[in-house]
Amino acid sequence: MRNNKPLRIIICAVCVIALTISLGSFASLEKAAAKEKARPKIAIEAGHQKHANSGLERIGPNTSRRKIKVAGGTTGVVTRVPEYKLNLTIAKKLKKELESRGYKVYMVRTKNNVNISNRIRAIKANRSGADICIRLHADDAGASGPSGASCLYKTKANRYATAKVNRKSKRLSKCVLTKYCKRTGAKNRGLSKRNDLTGSNWSKIPTTLIEMGFMSNPSEDRRMQRASYQKKMVKGIADGIDAYYGYK
Ligand SMILES: [Zn+2]
Repeated sequence: MRNNKPLRIIICAVCVIALTISLGSFASLEKAAAKEKARPKIAIEAGHQKHANSGLERIGPNTSRRKIKVAGGTTGVVTRVPEYKLNLTIAKKLKKELESRGYKVYMVRTKNNVNISNRIRAIKANRSGADICIRLHADDAGASGPSGASCLYKTKANRYATAKVNRKSKRLSKCVLTKYCKRTGAKNRGLSKRNDLTGSNWSKIPTTLIEMGFMSNPSEDRRMQRASYQKKMVKGIADGIDAYYGYK
């Protein structure tokens, strides 16, 4: 019988090399997938709640200036839907959309009947480990004419957060507003500098507050209650977050 031991050794060596290469490429594929999946955690804060809280709290960590804990919010001029309900509806849909894109999500509130002050909302988002915070609101002009969306951000003059966080808040606001208006076709009313918002001032992470549309405008009010339009609203905000992080 012919001794083919050397041949067997060569075959085994080839097998080991092939296995190592395939395991290696599998591991790098897995690494790439994990990297793709490991998107940041996003805090979503649905503005207002069922009952306003007129107790006072400081509007920022370094000031004695006070404002009420949670304002009542507005109501749809035609639909009569309260703003707190619209904000939570969009928040829940946004959570699903962001999770489908690989983000982790922290919801500051998941019910309407809560009592969480704006300061506590910011602190909850800070402690959640979220990377950024999206605050959802709808506007009221007290007249039927005005329509469209805007984003409110803290400026460098804000004494409550670092310059870096303020800079990032502005960029986040721009990304979210641009993409939101692109998806929904809503009028872009631009960015608005606001350093008096308790829920943004106590935030240690980049934060934007989007006014998604006017509930005082009859057609915008109706539109914001339509499921097909809500889908666009949610995708627009998610597109803005993608743009902020540089995801395609
Ligand atoms: Zn509001």
